[in-house]
Amino acid sequence: MKLVFFGAPGAGKGTISKKLNEEYGLPQISTGDLFRENIKNRTELGLKVSSILEKGELVPDQLTISIVEMRTKNNDCKNGYILDGFPRTIIQAENWEKISPIDKAIYFDITDKEVMDRLSGRRVCPKCGQIYHILFNKPKKDGKCDNDDETLYIRPDDKEEAINNRLNVYHKQTEPLIEYYTNINKIVKINAVNSFEDVYSEIKSKLKLK
Ligand code: AMP
Repeated sequence: MKLVFFGAPGAGKGTISKKLNEEYGLPQISTGDLFRENIKNRTELGLKVSSILEKGELVPDQLTISIVEMRTKNNDCKNGYILDGFPRTIIQAENWEKISPIDKAIYFDITDKEVMDRLSGRRVCPKCGQIYHILFNKPKKDGKCDNDDETLYIRPDDKEEAINNRLNVYHKQTEPLIEYYTNINKIVKINAVNSFEDVYSEIKSKLKLK
């Protein structure tokens, strides 16, 4: 099954796709994670995109599409995948439908206020990518990852100004995907304000996953 997860930043796409990956083995392909990995390893791509990510703007379409195309050629993607945070523009979506048509696009519906509350408290493990929240999903030990005891960090684009910018970019460039996937009958709308458990079971039931 080939799935797209889209919605405002902080809507829970990453957390839910990690869980679906654990339970069903569907690889999670997060363009944001791929870019951050390249920035961390100081690759040529990383150097190119680092300031774009920091400001909360979008990486150019063709560059993003080619990265996803390369990643999905891996053997682990032969039975499907979750595209987490891709596509984010109409151009990316149209191109991807030509390259490899998806089955369903899950739209995580959430308010801007909820996004702001979530992202400003988000903490991430630099090693395993596990996501926490200082109020809603605390690690067992303050500031440390439950899995590997690494010190958690705040993503530079989770600062207030960058969050506002990412929300503007989302409304302008990504929200039109709702209409695009509705028109090609692939949209599945999820109420992402609900608890993690509720969102997860709504997705499983709408995708008829056992
Ligand atoms: P995320 O982790 O999904 O919030 O993505 C972090 C950042 O990576 C975004 O703010 C963009 O700068 C960049 N990015 C991720 N996915 C895409 C995409 N599909 N198109 C363009 N830029 C992207």
